[in-house]
Amino acid sequence: MKAPIVIIGSGFAAYQLVKSLRKLDSDCPITVVTADEGHEYNKPDLSHVVSRSQSAAELVKLTGAEFAEQQRITLLARQTVERIDPAQHRLELADQSLGYGQLVLATGARAMVPVIDGLMGGDIITLNGLEEYQQHQQRLAEARSVLVIGAGLIGTELAMDLASADKQLVLTDMAPQLLPRLLPEFIASRLYRCMDEMPVRFELGTQVQQAVAQDRGYRVTLSNGQQHSVDAVVAAIGLRPNVQLARQAGLAVNQGIVVDSQLRTNVAGVFALGDCAERDGQLHPYLQPTLLAASALAKTLLGQPTDAIRANTLVKVKTPQLPIQLAGDTGNADAQWEVKVDADGMTASAFDTQQRLIGFVTTEQHMKNAFPLMRQLPVS
Ligand SMILES: Cc1cc2nc3c(=O)[nH]c(=O)nc-3n(C[C@H](O)[C@H](O)[C@H](O)COP(=O)(O)OP(=O)(O)OC[C@H]3O[C@@H](n4cnc5c(N)ncnc54)[C@H](O)[C@@H]3O)c2cc1C
Repeated sequence: MKAPIVIIGSGFAAYQLVKSLRKLDSDCPITVVTADEGHEYNKPDLSHVVSRSQSAAELVKLTGAEFAEQQRITLLARQTVERIDPAQHRLELADQSLGYGQLVLATGARAMVPVIDGLMGGDIITLNGLEEYQQHQQRLAEARSVLVIGAGLIGTELAMDLASADKQLVLTDMAPQLLPRLLPEFIASRLYRCMDEMPVRFELGTQVQQAVAQDRGYRVTLSNGQQHSVDAVVAAIGLRPNVQLARQAGLAVNQGIVVDSQLRTNVAGVFALGDCAERDGQLHPYLQPTLLAASALAKTLLGQPTDAIRANTLVKVKTPQLPIQLAGDTGNADAQWEVKVDADGMTASAFDTQQRLIGFVTTEQHMKNAFPLMRQLPVS
């Protein structure tokens, strides 16, 4: 029998690839090996689970077993791949070894956890996956006050969600503004004003120095001298691609696993996709680029080498009080901005020194301008 296409991981990247493969070939053998249960869910929903009082179980669209049956794949759930042997085309799991024809790493990324005096690893909640939420959902539901560390995309969305669920929120970041890598200060301050009407205390331009456990939660001290008592601490300070397996197997690794336009690593027959992969020197940790890449990779794996379409990603900031869509180089400090504001919202376009459009931000009703602007934006 033909050796299977083996995919490591069962997140969006892995399952999108399975669906793309099945659209083209109903029979090719596919094995998915995953460290988790293999349930299919929509990870971005984690940004509003608390305000919607949704449990982890309610986010599951298909259980691993249901997905495997629907897509006719072999699913090895709760199995961590410990080693890849590219010379022998084999994977080592805890108690078995597995051969592959072609191998795809879709191992995702893990949430970084800050080192804070007085807080152990388990004290800090991260929400980068269904099982992390499952582990902490009760603590989050019961918490009356929460400190969120990190005011980037995920941290800001989580803070707004928790505040919408009537929790007292402290949102802190080393940077002096919200979404520091994505928004210029004049738009971030608009978001700040919207959030200011909620029970959110901003502590920007400062760091958590230490925490002391209390009866209920922690007393946290910041480097600006402020102290806050909170029931729970959530960290959203960024993600780090899971590259250990790849590095050990001799694959080229930079920030992520280095792949070319066909998602090929430097080792024949081994590919990488999703949050773990780095293409054109950049990580693309969003659904849309992964969807396009999965569709191309399916063709490549089935014998029709295909470049993944390069497209700009439209980033949606899921902050209901001020919905935002943006694309391009919106965090560029040298950009010159052209801004149109009215009662319906804002359209801000960023230009480089040669007056070329390099990015844009739209809010509220102005989000209808996002697609026309996307078409004018050169692919970066
Ligand atoms: C709160 C939140 C909100 C988001 N909102 C948006 C949004 O609005 N729009 C958007 O485009 N993107 C959003 N994202 C990002 C998007 O969800 C991710 O880019 C995407 O889900 C990543 O999918 P993935 O399959 O690459 O990785 P993951 O979902 O991380 O999957 C990795 C898989 O690899 C498995 N694995 C890892 N190592 C091993 C091993 N050694 N052996 C076996 N299995 C292994 C894991 O168990 C897991 O199944 C959001 C992310 C978060 C956390």
